[in-house]
Amino acid sequence: MQRTSHIELSRSSYRTNLEFLREELGDVIISSVIKGNAYGHGIRPFVELAEEHGIDHFSVFSADEAREVKNVTRHDSEVMIMGYISDEDIEWVITNDISFFLFDIHRLHKALEVAAKSGKPARIHIELETGFNRTGFTKDELTELIRCIKENDGLLKVEGVCTHYAGAESIANHVRVRKQKELFEERCTWLKREGIDIGLRHTACSAAALSYPDTRMDMVRIGILQYGFWPSRETLIRFLTRKGIERCDPLKRIICWKSEVMSVKKITRGEFVGYGTSYLAEQDTYVATVPVGYAHGYSRVLSNQGRVLIRDHRLGVIGMVNMNMMMIDISENPGIKEGEEVILIGTDGEREVSVASFGELSNQLNYELLVRIPHNIPRYIVD
Ligand SMILES: *Cc1c(COP(=O)(O)O)cnc(C)c1O
Repeated sequence: MQRTSHIELSRSSYRTNLEFLREELGDVIISSVIKGNAYGHGIRPFVELAEEHGIDHFSVFSADEAREVKNVTRHDSEVMIMGYISDEDIEWVITNDISFFLFDIHRLHKALEVAAKSGKPARIHIELETGFNRTGFTKDELTELIRCIKENDGLLKVEGVCTHYAGAESIANHVRVRKQKELFEERCTWLKREGIDIGLRHTACSAAALSYPDTRMDMVRIGILQYGFWPSRETLIRFLTRKGIERCDPLKRIICWKSEVMSVKKITRGEFVGYGTSYLAEQDTYVATVPVGYAHGYSRVLSNQGRVLIRDHRLGVIGMVNMNMMMIDISENPGIKEGEEVILIGTDGEREVSVASFGELSNQLNYELLVRIPHNIPRYIVD
C-alpha cells in the first residue's frame, strides 16, 4: 500500500500515562496489554517505548503476537499469551519460555504432552471461570487440573491464577463483577488448600484496576489506559469523583495519525459532494481531499461525521468516506493548501480529535478504529 499517512507515538505522553498508572495503582506489577497490534499503535514501536520506561511484562492475545514481541524485545521481557495458541504453536511457546493462560482440558493435555516431549515445563496461568462465561476452568475441571499438576511433577509450572471481569467499565455490572471477585478469592483459597502454589493472582484490566482497587492483587493487565484512552466515560467520571477535586483528564493520547491535503477545490452552492447525495453544499464550499479512506482503516461510519485537524481547526468530513480518500469542508479556512498537515487522530496545540468525537458509541468506536489502522502504515516514536 502506498504510504499516504503515518503515525507518531509521543514519548512524553506515554511517560505521563505510565507515571499516572504507577502512582494510582501502587506497588503492583503492570503487565502491558498489547493485543490488537498494541491497540493499533504498533507492537514494534510500542514495546520499544514501554521497555525504555521500565516495563518488562507484556500480555498478548496469540502466539503470532508473542513472536513479534520476542523479535523486538531488548530486555528479554516476560510475554504472556491470554488467548489463542494453535496446536502447532504450543511447542514453540513452551520451548521459548512464554507463559500462557490455561483455560480448558484440551489445552491442558496438549501442554502436558509437549512439556514431556521437550523437557521444558509449561509455564501456565490458570484461568478461572468466575462468571464471564467465555474461557476458564470450572470447579469440576479444576479437580482434574490439580490431579494432573500433582501427577506430572515439574511439567506444569503454575506462574499465576487469573480471571477476567464482565465489564468493569460500567456500574451496571457492579454486582456481577463483585461476585466474580469473591468467587475468584474462594477458588484461590481452595487451590492453596489443595497444595497448589498459585503464584501471581491477577484479575484486573484498566477499568477494574481503577474502579475496584481490591482487584489489583499481585499484577494488573493494563491495556487502554496506557495509550491514554479511558475504558469508558463512566470510568473517568468515577475516578474524578473519587478524587473529590475538579481535575481534568490526567491521561494523554500517545497516538497521532497524520496525513496531508492532497487537493483543494471550490464547490458551488447546490452541488452534491462525492458519491450519491449524502452531502449537499448549502453554500459555496471549499473542499480538501485527504488520501486516506476505509482501505486505510478510516471507517465509513465517519462519513459526514468524522473530524480532522488542519491548522488547529477542527473540520468536518463531508460526504461518504471513500476507499482511499475523504473530503473535508475547509470553508472556515479557505487558505488551506495542498501538502498541509492533516491530523486524523491526535492533538494539535489545544485541540484534539479522538478517533470518533461524537455520540454514545464513541468509546467502542475508538477501540475498533484504533485496532483497524493497518499494520503497514509507518509508525515512529517522537519526543
Ligand atoms: C484486553 C484484555 C485486558 C486489558 O483490557 P483494557 O480494558 O484495555 O485494560 C486485560 N485482560 C484480558 C484478559 C484482556 O483480554
